Amino acid sequence: MPEFRELIEGYRRFRTGPYIEQRTRFDALAQGQSPRVMLVACSDSRVDPSRVFDTAPGQMFVLRNVANLVPDYGDAAGQASAAAAIEYAVCVLKVHQIVVFGHARCGGIAASLSGAFTDAGPGQGQFIGKWMAMIEPARQQVVAAAALSPDVDAQRALEQAAVRLSLANLRSYPFVTAAETAGELKLQGAIFDIADGSLRVLDPATDRFETVPVTLPG
Ligand SMILES: [Zn+2]
Repeated sequence: MPEFRELIEGYRRFRTGPYIEQRTRFDALAQGQSPRVMLVACSDSRVDPSRVFDTAPGQMFVLRNVANLVPDYGDAAGQASAAAAIEYAVCVLKVHQIVVFGHARCGGIAASLSGAFTDAGPGQGQFIGKWMAMIEPARQQVVAAAALSPDVDAQRALEQAAVRLSLANLRSYPFVTAAETAGELKLQGAIFDIADGSLRVLDPATDRFETVPVTLPG
């Protein structure tokens, strides 16, 4: 299988290219990190946050999981991987922004909609089913809305609902709410579509996802 060999070839390109060109940056990063942004992104291989946002090492603290979900604080003990990353970002790194970064055509969202892994057994999607049960109330709402109106794109609606739910769940963590109330932390929602490269950001005033213009106006 050539896949790992391809990674090693990539590592050699990195060591002989960017690592040398950005030596000063990497030397500074060796002393510690102070990213200002935390990103909650999907594990999906097509959605690489550092490519989409053109960031350098040290700029973003990234949590990736299936469907970019944040568990509710009350449920967090059983989902400690996500909660630990959020706690570290907010309480230790003191990031200024947390971005829940969703994406179109998400397999986790599609699985939730189809119920493919609901009550699945070991090795059959047992953990995916349990994880995606987190958005079950949102799924039920979207399915009901789609049944009433043929205009509702259930996949797209649930992707958006899941981002809104994760933002609400972030606010269930006392230290997140405290930092937000103190004006030290902002929460953002966004959705990227690899098909057309578009990025939509949730406008808190309208609660709608608005497309980000690629070029600056004027
Ligand atoms: Zn996904």
